[in-house]
This record gives sequence, C-alpha cells and structure tokens, in this order.
Amino acid sequence: MDEYRKTIMVVESRPGEREAVKKILSEEYKVLEAGSAGDAMLQISCGSMVDAILLGNLQQDGREVGFLDKIHNSGYASIPVLVILEDAKEDPGLEALDHGAWDYVTRPIRVKTLRNRLDRAVRHCRIPSYEGLLYMSERDRLTGLYNREKMFAETRRMIDRHMDTLFVFLRFDIDRFRLYNAVFGELRGDKLLITMAEIIEGIAGCFEFSTYGRINADTFCICEPYDCERLHMQVQMVKEGLAGFEKNYLLEPTVGAYIVEEPDLAVEEMYIRAFIGSKKCKNKFASYLGFYDMDEGIREVEEAAIVSSMQTAMDEEQFVVYFQPKFDIANDRDIGAEALVRWKHPDTGLMPPKHFIPIFEKNGFISRLDYYVWEHVCQLIHKWLGDGICLDPITVNISRISLYNPRLADILSGLIEQYGVPIGLLNLEITESAYVSDPELIQEAVRKLHQAGFILLMDDFGSGYSSLNMLKDIDVDVLKIDMQFLSGGESPGKGKIILESVIQMANNLGMPVIMEGVETQEQKRFLYKIGCNYVQGYYYARPMPQEEYEKKYIYRL
Ligand code: C2E
Ligand code: CA
Ligand code: CA
Repeated sequence: MDEYRKTIMVVESRPGEREAVKKILSEEYKVLEAGSAGDAMLQISCGSMVDAILLGNLQQDGREVGFLDKIHNSGYASIPVLVILEDAKEDPGLEALDHGAWDYVTRPIRVKTLRNRLDRAVRHCRIPSYEGLLYMSERDRLTGLYNREKMFAETRRMIDRHMDTLFVFLRFDIDRFRLYNAVFGELRGDKLLITMAEIIEGIAGCFEFSTYGRINADTFCICEPYDCERLHMQVQMVKEGLAGFEKNYLLEPTVGAYIVEEPDLAVEEMYIRAFIGSKKCKNKFASYLGFYDMDEGIREVEEAAIVSSMQTAMDEEQFVVYFQPKFDIANDRDIGAEALVRWKHPDTGLMPPKHFIPIFEKNGFISRLDYYVWEHVCQLIHKWLGDGICLDPITVNISRISLYNPRLADILSGLIEQYGVPIGLLNLEITESAYVSDPELIQEAVRKLHQAGFILLMDDFGSGYSSLNMLKDIDVDVLKIDMQFLSGGESPGKGKIILESVIQMANNLGMPVIMEGVETQEQKRFLYKIGCNYVQGYYYARPMPQEEYEKKYIYRL
C-alpha cells in the first residue's frame, strides 16, 4: 500500500531518463518526478513528503551543484540526496559530496547498486537537528529567504555595524498578484513567488553586505548600500525577470524606497516608509519606483489618523461650529455671521478646517459634515427665534460634493421646515472653484436652490480662472470676494485695481459685495472708498465659539 512505501523524488530534466529511473524504482518506492530544481523545491515546500532525492542531470552546467547547495542550506537539509553521475572520472563524486550529497551512483546505472544505496539513504532519514529547527524559525518556508522577523533583525545589525554607510530600504511587491493567483492557480502563484525570490536574491546578493527576505505574500524587502544608478538597474532587472516568467499576463513590480537618513529608526518604521514611497507608483503606468518623502510621509500618517477617527468625532460631537460676524462698513453694524466648523480633538486640541476638510472632500465624508453643520445652525436659529430674538441671516458653506447631490435643495428645505427656520435666515455659500470645474452642474444646483427660495453667495470669488466671465452666467445673489485681493500690501497694486473694477461691475449689476479677510483699518477705508459695502475679517471679529457669539451679537450682553 502506498502509504507504507517510502517516497523518492527523481530530479532530472530529460523526460526519457526520468522515466527509466522511475521504472527501476516504482516497484519498491512511491516515485515523485521533478523536471527542474525549481519544480523540486516547489513540490517539497508545498508539503510533498520525500524520504530521499535522486538527482540526475539538470542540463546546464552547475545546476546540480546549485540544487545541492539549495537543499543543503534550506530547511530540508535532512532529506538525503543521491546523485547520479554521468561517467566515472577520477574522484567522481567528490564535488557532489562536498556540496552536501549523501551518496552517488554512476552511469550506466546498476539496478542493484542503486537500490542498495537508496535503501541506506532512506533508512538514514534523520530526525530534524537543532540547526534545522532554528533554520525553519528564521526562514520563509516557500522561498527559503529570511522571514520578516529575521530580515528586520539582520537589517538592524547590519546598519549598526556600518554606521558610515548610507543604506536604502526597499519594498517590492507584484502588481495584481492576487488576481494572478486567482486566474492561474495557487501552485503557479507559488512558482512565481519562488522566481521572485530568486530575482531578489540575485540583485541583492552582489553587494558586499545586504539583507533581504520575504515579508509576506508577494512582499519582499532588501536593505543595501544606497547607489541611485544601481537601484534603477535593479528595478529594471526585477521588471524584466517578472516579464520573462509569464508571457500571457503583465507582471510588474512596484518598488518603494526609503533612503535610511535616520539610521536609528526602527526597521519596522523603515518598512512603513518604503511602503508609503511605493504608493506613489501603484496603478500608474510605467512607474515602478517611488521614494519616501519625509513631509509627505507625515501628511500620510496624519491623514490616516484623521480618517480613522472622523466617525467617532461625529458620534461624539467633537465637531463644533464657530461664528464669524459680517459687518456693514457704513455704520460698523453686524449683519449676520458665517458658520465655520472646527474639530475639538481630544488629543490634539482645536483643529482648523484646512487640516481635515480637504481630506473629507477626498473621501466624501464632507457631505455628512456639511449636513451636521447645517442642522446645528438650524437648531440654533430655532432656539434664538424661540427666545424672541430678531435675527440677521446665518450663512453656511456648501461643499462641492454636496452640490453634486441632486437632492440638495430637498434636503435643505427639509431641514428648515423641520426646525421652523424662515428661508431668508439660512443663506448658502458656494465656492467659485466648484463652478469653474463643473459649470453646468452647478448652474442646475443653483437653479434648484433658488427655486426653493434660498439666498446664495458666491464664495472665494476671484480665486478661480473664469471669474469675470462667470458673472454673466451664474445667478447668485451676493458676491463674496476672495481675500487674496487684499494681500498685496498697503500700496494699491494690481490686486487693488482689479478689486476696484470687480466691485464697480457688481454694483452695476446690482449685486451686493462682501469682502473677506479684512485685517486693517486701511483696508477697510480703501474698500469703503471703492464702493464695497460689506466686510468680514479679523479687523472686526475673528470666528468665535457659539457662546461668545451669542453673548456679543445675539443677546448683546
Ligand atoms: P471660507 O469659506 O473662505 O471661510 C473663510 C475663512 O477665512 C475662514 O477660515 C475664516 O476664519 C478666515 N478668515 C476670516 N477673516 C479673516 C482675516 O481677516 N484674515 C485671514 N487670514 N483669514 C480670515 P477657516 O474657518 O479656517 O475656514 C477655512 C475654510 O474651510 C473655509 O473657507 C471653508 O472653505 C472651509 N470650511 C469651514 N467651515 C466649513 C463648513 O462648515 N463646511 C464646509 N463645507 N467648509 C467649511
Ligand atoms: Ca465661506
Ligand atoms: Ca471664502
């Protein structure tokens, strides 16, 4: 019965010879066949139990010796290898024995001799040694490379030993590897990984010192002395190696590099930085190598922290609404306020919107935050009206993503109805940049909002490109001019000349103008002189918490 028979693996690239040997053995043994060294390693590493290996010809010079070395230096060193030598030259088997072979036979094969020697080899089948166990704990089973822990530990040791060398830490992975596995099967996937390991070994092994290993799945790492030109060559070699493995599937690497400018950094952190570098070229055509950039890295980490805590922040009402009043220049009286959000973060304190709004705009969370602010403002207006206060309007910001929502007008109408807010008290600011990037869509949104009865302000006017042209197309009620026009210093420069004509034009069109970012008395005077009636800015008041706004401007205490 098969289970009780010992297993011999015949490794031989010539099918005829393999068959002949198999014939001799199959009466007594269970026989596995491998046509190449890689095939043999793959079968063994995938769990084939082998009691001895019979190694024939592997076609190219030295391949047999290479295979012997591989077995000898792997976790499978306890499998005895018997070598078949082509002819009986002097000291025929010495080289093989030198490379760890257990025994040899020569051609022509004498059946009896072969069986005898194999028997002895199989009986010898050793108990795993301490070295073997140690080896297994440090190596990746499939490829024989260092595993993550060992690779990182060796890297630490290497960097510490060569403090005057500038290293680069590299992270390699194979694009769409999972898909490849799914399409071609796991066995072929494993073969690909073994090939990748050989490529990695090939390119890293030629340095005087370097470390490399398989980190997980299709991720491999190298740490080596940094040499820019050589690095680009290596990437090219990996690319070619992968392309050569599979003709029918585009296999390409992604390589992330961190130049080890801080050698004291934990190797785990170097790995993360290389990973961040690699993201620069993921899914980008013909871009294989990305370097970690310190500033980008910090941003990336901060961004991840923001994304992971945004929902909790919403649930725990960490987003708070500040109010910045607007003023009539003629009499310095406040005429309402703009609601501006802040994040009262439990760890980092009060965070301004420029740190989180761009991130929420990217991941879509901004539409939830928008709604949160609108609802909060509606609740407040409801409360103030309930207290018998006669109010000026509060404006809220509408992000570009909310403008894309075809139900926007319904949502806002629903809110004011729910809280009994007169429509004139909730004004809406839409940013000019949204209009520039998608004029038709915004025009449609503006039309619907107007139809519902809302008053609209065009925010950041002048920050985009087609500003002046836009005035004739877009139907907004108030123009809110971007503060960049005021930043040209005290002397009336170009910005001020443009500002003057924009305000004149708005006045001619019968459109009220609010200037934002007014910080000094000079600016205020200048604006008054050129016909601007309304302002918002630090000169009058900074954005303030609700309680302060209520005290100063609502209840006027
Ligand atoms: P924005 O809508 O243009 O708001 C005006 C910004 O200018 C506010 O910054 C305000 O604090 C600032 N500011 C006011 N007066 C002055 C001044 O005299 N000098 C200077 N240098 N700045 C002044 P903030 O509050 O940091 O908001 C930045 C941006 O974040 C806003 O620009 C807006 O685009 C966005 N944002 C703020 N709150 C919300 C919100 O609730 N929803 C949405 N979608 N976006 C918001
Ligand atoms: Ca605004
Ligand atoms: Ca603005």
